[in-house]
Amino acid sequence: MLKLSVVPASYIDESPIGYTLRLAKSNGFRYINAMINKTIVNKIVKNQLSEFKFNDCKISHLYKENDSHIRNPLFKHNQAINPKVCLSCIFENKKISYYFQSPYSYLCTKHQCPLIDTCPHCKQSLSWELSLLDGNCTNPQCGFKLKQHSFIHPELTEKEDVSDCLLAGYLASNPATFFLTQTKWASHSSQLKLINDGYKLLNNKDVGQQWIKKLINNLPFYPKSFASIPFKILVKNINSADWPCIDIMKDALLKENSNKTNHECNLVTQAGVAMDLLGVDLFNLRQLNEKNLITIRNNERLTKKTLVDISNIIKKLRKLEYLPSMTPLSEQKSKMVFYDISPAKILISILNGELSAGYRPSTDLISSILIEPDELKNYAIKYFAKRLGNKVTLEQTKEMTGLPIKTLYNLKAKGILNTPSWYRPGCKHFCVFEDILKLRESLSDTQLSLNL
Ligand SMILES: [Zn+2]
Ligand SMILES: [Zn+2]
Repeated sequence: MLKLSVVPASYIDESPIGYTLRLAKSNGFRYINAMINKTIVNKIVKNQLSEFKFNDCKISHLYKENDSHIRNPLFKHNQAINPKVCLSCIFENKKISYYFQSPYSYLCTKHQCPLIDTCPHCKQSLSWELSLLDGNCTNPQCGFKLKQHSFIHPELTEKEDVSDCLLAGYLASNPATFFLTQTKWASHSSQLKLINDGYKLLNNKDVGQQWIKKLINNLPFYPKSFASIPFKILVKNINSADWPCIDIMKDALLKENSNKTNHECNLVTQAGVAMDLLGVDLFNLRQLNEKNLITIRNNERLTKKTLVDISNIIKKLRKLEYLPSMTPLSEQKSKMVFYDISPAKILISILNGELSAGYRPSTDLISSILIEPDELKNYAIKYFAKRLGNKVTLEQTKEMTGLPIKTLYNLKAKGILNTPSWYRPGCKHFCVFEDILKLRESLSDTQLSLNL
């Protein structure tokens, strides 16, 4: 317990740290650390010191939780640990409200003026120091009188919208974000600038288009589906889908093309995202890892959440020469279905040098990989032959023959499609691979209507 001679009364909505600053000032301290050490200051800021006492006065009654119903992927607790102040409140009674410690507070509701968290003179973030209570910059090298800044967005009244702006602002200033790391506290400095930048990104057409251009230029030789990861992170995590720029940015993603800058980042993202982009499963990802085509961050066990660097795949694909006789894999889907060969198998064969292909960045990976149709057909037939004796599910049989499930059951009843001989419960949903081949031969070309 700390004995102090002057113990002022607290204000109703005062923050514990704001009160502590006032207490230090009333007792003649020049710096907060002359009264209590940094660790205690940090704990008060994070509301972790409920039993802390000054004389007989506890500050626990000042602890309140802010906006617990809002979720932002950038931090776990809705508690900002850097100061934000309203200069009018400061001049009136040196009060720093606990509302201002919500990461989503950007206005003082009493004075209707924007909060400040950065010195307009030295551009440094403010810190919990006594000079705050005089309306001065807390940087000892500066000490400049703080001034109100001008941005205010009258439409921005809902906390959920401010949360969207905060995330958008973070992505606007970090356009090479391919995964988010959640911190425990809202510890980003200059949150008000982030909110303002995010508001512009979500509302201003030019700002939105410029950002998309940046995303595409960050990954110049990648399919657009890869370059658009930061945009997908934004769309997935915002509370409202009604921001005017979302559709504009979607359009820009289709239209913008990379200007092939030399600047290029490495693409590190969660394995789950990589699987979607590459069209592979976890088993394939392990195969790619064995060939050093992906790198697992921190040598973790590979799960969907593990961070993986997939840049080497694109580096290798980029070396493949594209010839005019080649056709995008996306236009040869029917062949892949007919021979029951997955894009993942094809990708791995290309990367292993077993199948020749070309590469030309397009919307997604499957349309960026090009193969000569005959080359793919020969490769597929060879792969197909290796699978004789395999079992195939009814769903796959439906894809491979183009026949409805009901017809397939009838054919099973007639003995045209057989259940594998090692019958076990559940196996009646499987067919013998050779039966499917025979069935396909007996069906006319028109029925199959496959472009081969
Ligand atoms: Zn105020
Ligand atoms: Zn300053």
